[in-house]
Order: sequence, then structure tokens, then C-alpha cells
Amino acid sequence: LIELRDVNKHYGTLHVLRDIDLVVDRGEVVVVIGPSGSGKSTLCRTINRLETIDSGTITIDGRPMPDEGRALARLRAEVGMVFQSFNLFAHKTVLANVSLAQVKVRRRDKAEADRRSRELLERVGLLAHAEKYPAQLSGGQQQRVAIARALAMEPKALLFDEPTSALDPEMINEVLEVMQQLARDGMTMVVVTHEMGFARSAANRVVFMADGRIVEDRPPEEFFTAPRSERARDFLSKIL
Ligand code: ATP
Ligand code: MG
Repeated sequence: LIELRDVNKHYGTLHVLRDIDLVVDRGEVVVVIGPSGSGKSTLCRTINRLETIDSGTITIDGRPMPDEGRALARLRAEVGMVFQSFNLFAHKTVLANVSLAQVKVRRRDKAEADRRSRELLERVGLLAHAEKYPAQLSGGQQQRVAIARALAMEPKALLFDEPTSALDPEMINEVLEVMQQLARDGMTMVVVTHEMGFARSAANRVVFMADGRIVEDRPPEEFFTAPRSERARDFLSKIL
């Protein structure tokens, strides 16, 4: 579904992505971990073209990424992204936050969009909060709204960049549970996270990055019990 071949990217003289080959099949959950600055966020952002690349190819469903225009907007809708900060519209209700892009990008009429939004809010456990504003919700609730909003576009895949790292500890699980459920429902997901419990229980593969390279790409049980690289052993010894 998502295929990166020999992708390279620089920021000035910094070679931030080096010879990246990554294939994510339909229904797979890939967790990306690695030290700060290793290129995890950049990888996510290149997948849905928030960043350009210098060489290599990225295809979604076998089609290359369009450069701009409506084709790009459509593709962004197919590969949703959930960030560390929830980026909700503060002056719009929860319901409106989830409905907005459906009307604008998917051209749904408002009643249909709202009906779907309510279904999705129910799925993330927030139907009772539909008429509230983001500031009236906890961080964990806001992040679940952000997930509902991404799902509203009916994406083929979702990218998560440290979705729980801005949350207080007691709110992390409610977000991870929603993500676990998505994984069980067969959603294709690329998840940058330091939540190793999630990686162990939900991931099909763990991708370990260091210095812009993919150093390991293996099933979690293998990676965690017997990391092959010194870099990964060192990293795991610091976070586990
Ligand atoms: P973290 O765990 O801290 O989020 P990361 O693995 O997500 O780190 P990236 O954000 O992808 O790392 O950054 C990789 C490298 O690229 C870092 O050295 C960072 O300073 C640099 N970088 C990121 N964005 C830019 C930018 N817009 N311009 C220049 N350099 C950047
Ligand atoms: Mg990052």
C-alpha cells in the first residue's frame, strides 16, 4: 500500500533520510522508533508529501505521489496523519472539527458529514462531547477527536507521529486503546511512538531508525528480545 524506494532527503548539508526502503502492506501496523533526530518525523512527513524528497520514489497503492493540486489533496485524504499536537480548530465544535474536511475535500453534504462524524465520535468514545469546543476537553479526548477527524476522510492508511507524547500519563492509554482497536479493525498504520507496550502488542513490524537510516525492520518479538545492531541495543537499554 505504501512503498518507499531508495528515498533520500537533505536539509541543507544534513542528510536526514538515507536510502530508505520501506513497504507497508494493507492492514499492517508498523511502529517506527529511534533516537531523537534520527528522521522519524521527516519520514512520516515525506510519506504524505508535507516534505519533498531529493531522490527515490514513494507510491501509494502503486501510484506516485502527485506534486500538487487536487490530486495531492485527495492523496492526503487517503493517507491521514495524526500529530503530537492535535491541531483542532479552537473556535469550532468537536462535531464541526470532524465534519469540516468531509464537506470541503470529500464534498459530502453537511447532514451526511455530521451523521458520519457522530458515528466516528461514538467509535472513539466521545459522542457525548460532540457539541463542546476543544478547550473543554482533556488532551486525551482532543487527540481522540483528531483521530476521528482523520478517519472521517476514510483513509487507506493513517500515519501517527508521537500521538501520545504531549499527553499526561493517565490519558495515554485511552488514546492507545483507540489505536489498538483501529489496528484490530485492519487499518494500515505507521506509528512513531516510544510506547513499547503498543509496539509489542499491536505492531507487525518495528522499524528502528538511526542517523536517517532504517537500521532494523523486524517483528517486535524478535526486535525486543534480540536486537541485532549496537545502536538498537543501546537505544533499548535507555528506554526500557
Ligand atoms: P524526535 O524524536 O526528536 O521527534 P525525529 O526522529 O522525529 O526526532 P526529525 O524531526 O525527523 O527527527 O529530524 C531529523 C533531523 O532533521 C534533525 O536533526 C532535525 O534537526 C532536522 N530537521 C527537521 N526538520 C528540519 C527542517 N525543517 N529544517 C532543517 N532541519 C530539520
Ligand atoms: Mg519527531
